[in-house]
Amino acid sequence: VAKEKAPDEWVRSTCGYCGVGCGLYIGVKEGDPVYVKGDPDHPVNRGTLCPKGLSEHEMVRAPSRLPGAMIKKNGRFEQVTWDEAFRVTSDAFKEIQAKYGKSAVACISTGQLLTEEFYTLGKFVQLGLETNNYDGNTTLCMASAVMGYKQSFGSDGPPGCYEDFSHAEVIMLIGANIADNHPILKLHIARNKKVRGKKPTIIVVDPRHSKTANMADIYLPIKPRTDLAFINGLCYIIWEQGWMDETFINERTVGYKEFIKDIQKYPPQEVAHITGIDVKRLYEVARFYAGADAAMSAWTMGVNQSAMGTDTVSAIVNLALMTGNLGKPGGSPFSITGQCNAMGTRESGFTSSIPGYRNFASAEDRREYAEIVGVPEELVPTSRGFAYPQIIEAIERGEIKALWVVATNPLVSYPDQPRLRKALAKLEMLVVQDSFMSDTAELADVLFGAATWSEKTGTYTNSERRCNLAKKSVPNYKDSKSDFEIVVEFSKYFDGKYERLFNGWSKPEDAFEEWKKVSKGRLCDYSGMTYEKIEKLGGIQWPCNDEHPEGTPRLYDEGMKTSNAEGKPKFVFADWFPMEENICTAFPLILNTGRTVEQFHTRTKTGTIKILEDLAPEAWVELSPKDAEKLQVKSGDRISLSSPRGRVDDVIVRVTEVVGEGTVFVPFHFNEQLVNRLTQSLFDPKSFEPNYKQTAIQLHSEKVP
Ligand code: SF4
Repeated sequence: VAKEKAPDEWVRSTCGYCGVGCGLYIGVKEGDPVYVKGDPDHPVNRGTLCPKGLSEHEMVRAPSRLPGAMIKKNGRFEQVTWDEAFRVTSDAFKEIQAKYGKSAVACISTGQLLTEEFYTLGKFVQLGLETNNYDGNTTLCMASAVMGYKQSFGSDGPPGCYEDFSHAEVIMLIGANIADNHPILKLHIARNKKVRGKKPTIIVVDPRHSKTANMADIYLPIKPRTDLAFINGLCYIIWEQGWMDETFINERTVGYKEFIKDIQKYPPQEVAHITGIDVKRLYEVARFYAGADAAMSAWTMGVNQSAMGTDTVSAIVNLALMTGNLGKPGGSPFSITGQCNAMGTRESGFTSSIPGYRNFASAEDRREYAEIVGVPEELVPTSRGFAYPQIIEAIERGEIKALWVVATNPLVSYPDQPRLRKALAKLEMLVVQDSFMSDTAELADVLFGAATWSEKTGTYTNSERRCNLAKKSVPNYKDSKSDFEIVVEFSKYFDGKYERLFNGWSKPEDAFEEWKKVSKGRLCDYSGMTYEKIEKLGGIQWPCNDEHPEGTPRLYDEGMKTSNAEGKPKFVFADWFPMEENICTAFPLILNTGRTVEQFHTRTKTGTIKILEDLAPEAWVELSPKDAEKLQVKSGDRISLSSPRGRVDDVIVRVTEVVGEGTVFVPFHFNEQLVNRLTQSLFDPKSFEPNYKQTAIQLHSEKVP
């Protein structure tokens, strides 16, 4: 760093993008963030960062930042006082609730907030606004992992940790392109040889030969959305060959006998036909997996974003249970989360459970929560409200009239955009709380301009349950407020709500202290944490309490019960079924969507950073050489894509063998080439997660008019 540009100070913090949760230092000069460098002592990333982390400071003062509170007047946003924005919004919410009922107001939040903020927001929406129509954009990425873990263990909670990548003899990555999406995890795989003295066997299962597949010893180009049949097939072979861990199954699991009866429907020939993976390969993979001292399966959106995502997650757990890969170094079924605090929201929010993984249906859980936070028990909802897609459907039906969107951008990220746009047009009130102007913010009636990463203090919990500290390093941009401040101050506009819910709260740590009490004794126990301790240890993995003062790397070792009635992990069988929207003459190709390392989600942040935009300025469509020949196009040409729902024009072609014949890939980040105009309104029936990955489409090579 040149002397004149050298930061005045370096503030230790955590990356605010993805679920890896890298530790970093923010270089601050004259009140502005000017550099970011990796924290060499942080156990997650040991000084390394990906391109997004390294340039994160650049978005903090971007021109697209919202300067504070704004109201749309005569079609244009005008900056107003916070008092006016809160008054207008609270009046609208009260009027709508008086006219149509409490649940006519809904909130869609995010995995981008700090846990303290998410906890505060959930508490206000559920117990203050008294609507349980509250969900997060985490339903678009992690809900299937949550529900799959619930089916198998009785509770959400990834059993493994990053260290497992360094201890496993076999690592199977299913629908997980970590090289682009979670690049720092490669560091843990690279350490494997050092830790074990020999290289692990890496198996990559993905219809697309992603950058991650380049790391594979065995690459399986599976047919789109057949992973459930694939895992069931591996379980069949392991049973047939007697390769299972009988001691583990007998002593540590339930439901095996029934499972084995069901699995008979998946003999190798049948599975080879469904998945496109030949029988010999299936036996080879099953043998490697079952024969390893420790094997782990890690997955992300290729599994979760599917109409059978929940059941595929449970199938991956079944494979781990059959082979005794649970609760030991290198042996785990491990979901990787997308956003920096997706994990924190799963535990502390009021989305799919009452904070602390409590069940809505349990009177005891409701009573306990109400008692801890000092509210009447009747206020705690007895059932989950609408999940994200159900909220959109309720807006379509005219049941929900006001929507509060917090730090998410549905007008790029949600599937079936034409339908979504029509639905949102029906709202009487749209409030968007965000740090940046976005496609969704443009549509709002009121904007709450929020502080962003590096302007606030609190915690993010990463994929391995590690709670990290993020610290305020610079003053807020203009008149923006932290999400914590916004919610607490907004609550004062609703008679008695502030006094009842947040009396005396002035800083995020007040919410953290309550969250520690709420989580105490639960699986996601934070009671043994303090900000100082988190920073000192480089993050702490929950549960952290008197028994485990420095946290818990793995769940469900021999002595640890699961949260279901049996207290043991359960085999959960589910059948594979073919895709609902299959290819046809009009739409003969399958579209797969995903991400690229340089961009994050809908580019509200990364789209403001020059170096990232220079590296990945627009969407592209990957096309196999055979499909390119059929269409008579070459790399660099521009084509259109259409589906039964819409059309996307002007997408640059990359002819590549990365995708197989009959399939194409387009990254979803770009609003200019909005690929979610094509995707379907199809959701996993248990998790409500969208089936983003398999859409029947047509390509058009004619020039765009
Ligand atoms: Fe940030 Fe994720 Fe990159 Fe780490 S891998 S620097 S957490 S975006």
